[in-house]
Amino acid sequence: VAEEFGFETEFVSAEVVEAIQADEEEDKEEDLVPRAPIVTVMGHVDHGKTSLLDNIRKTNVIAGEAGGITQHIGSYNVQLPSGRRITFLDTPGHEAFTAMRARGAQATDIAIIIIASDDKVMPQTKEAINHAAAAGVPIVFAFNKIDVQGADPNKIREQLAAMNYLVEDWGGKYQCQEISAKKGIGVNELLEKVLLEADMLDLKANPNRRAQGLIIESSLDKGRGYVSNILVHNGTLHVGDIILAGKYYGRVKAMFNERNQSLKATGAGPSVPATILGFNGAPSAGDTFNVLESEQEARDIATRRTQLQREQGFRTQKMLSLDEIGRRIAIGNFQELNLIIKGDMDGSVEALSAEIEKLSTEEIGVNVIHRGVGQISESDVVLAEASQAVIIGFQVRPSAIARKNAEQQGVEIRTYSIIYDAIADVKSAMEGMLSPEIKEVVTASLDVQQTFTIGKVGTIAGCLVKEGKIKRTDKVRVIRDGIVIHSGELESLKRFKDDVKEVALGLDCGLNIKGFNDLHEGDVIESYEEIEVKKTL
Ligand code: GDP
Repeated sequence: VAEEFGFETEFVSAEVVEAIQADEEEDKEEDLVPRAPIVTVMGHVDHGKTSLLDNIRKTNVIAGEAGGITQHIGSYNVQLPSGRRITFLDTPGHEAFTAMRARGAQATDIAIIIIASDDKVMPQTKEAINHAAAAGVPIVFAFNKIDVQGADPNKIREQLAAMNYLVEDWGGKYQCQEISAKKGIGVNELLEKVLLEADMLDLKANPNRRAQGLIIESSLDKGRGYVSNILVHNGTLHVGDIILAGKYYGRVKAMFNERNQSLKATGAGPSVPATILGFNGAPSAGDTFNVLESEQEARDIATRRTQLQREQGFRTQKMLSLDEIGRRIAIGNFQELNLIIKGDMDGSVEALSAEIEKLSTEEIGVNVIHRGVGQISESDVVLAEASQAVIIGFQVRPSAIARKNAEQQGVEIRTYSIIYDAIADVKSAMEGMLSPEIKEVVTASLDVQQTFTIGKVGTIAGCLVKEGKIKRTDKVRVIRDGIVIHSGELESLKRFKDDVKEVALGLDCGLNIKGFNDLHEGDVIESYEEIEVKKTL
């Protein structure tokens, strides 16, 4: 309608409108000065993230820099022998990284992906790489534990190459450094490479303006009130400033750095971490903060945000679903479809990803931003949320928490048992006409609590209906650790000794599955029916 009348429409969420108001100052080129890069370390568990961060924190890189780092305030800033500085986010792990991004905050400029060279590229390494890539953050690889006998960094280079991450010393574009986080070998060289990467990003900020930045974490301290650890992105934060983050605000009463020095005299400039007192509540990690003119203004925006949150529920942004794509194509603002693909086996994940990526057209690019084997996890849901992606599961299911989070955040999870169906759905979604002819509707989920084997009948499972209502005519799937191991039909459904037509929520039942006896305690049985949906124009 707007177009008919010659207007252009723009979609903005209420949150964004507020942010624009608070952020009206544009920086002039001549006011900008270089700022330190903000770096996150990510990688598989036990590959040395904590050791590397500890090493950097303890040595402070420049020995004897005034006051050692004694406080944990979520991030810290170190100076290299060259005189340049780097700020490290001290909350390692790609889940935390992406959780912040899901709240709209790009907390990091550069990611160090650490891989133990006595081990190999692990599932979580891949996950970390994909999370960094999805955020568009440059990566520097650290091959750790080179002091260990049998460490083979070249094997890691090879595995990365196989994933299309060719490192620089093999002619690729990714920098890498062999290190021992424990012995401190190669760490300075690693940091110099991080700075090289930073040079290319040309990171700049204007220290002479009202501050804005990011909440890293907040807590309530018995004696001091609300304590928030923050990282300034632009401007300089001073004691006495009126500060607003999410729906909380206050006047900065005191401010310290990671060396427990008061920042009252200097303030906290770009890329400088600080812990501050003065908020009237605990803003969430990943919230952005702004400094405002007056307390009145801060209070007004905070009140409006609280109201909006109440009226609109947690989210003001509509998440992407395959059904939604047609609408977005129609209004012309859809160019990219991000997908996360999880499957039961490497082969099927690769095959499905390859086929789906081939669906890219000139108008719409299809990106598989993460792929992996195993059940759909919370971390997949967080990544989908942050990247506006749809999750496709092939013969796998979400964990209970992942399912709940996905529902809350409006992330779409589509599960398939036939590769062709998944491809066909994505294809027709992109053509703007998704309307499956046969739709599966999950009717119930049951936990297998006991199994018995009876001569001719086979394995009987004693189950409890945890969700929904199962009918005798339903089809069933057996799920073990999130992976579908069998799909088929019921042979029988009984309550005590009697055959029944259905069993409702919270009741026990016994069942067996046609031609399938490998049922174990702890398996989940999902029942579903197939409903025919008429294609509509
Ligand atoms: P994280 O789980 O990634 O934070 O890994 P940690 O930093 O906790 O390291 C896991 C284990 O590997 C610890 O026992 C460390 O002492 C050990 N480790 C880490 N870096 C090195 C290294 O460079 N050399 C050796 N030999 N051991 C290391």
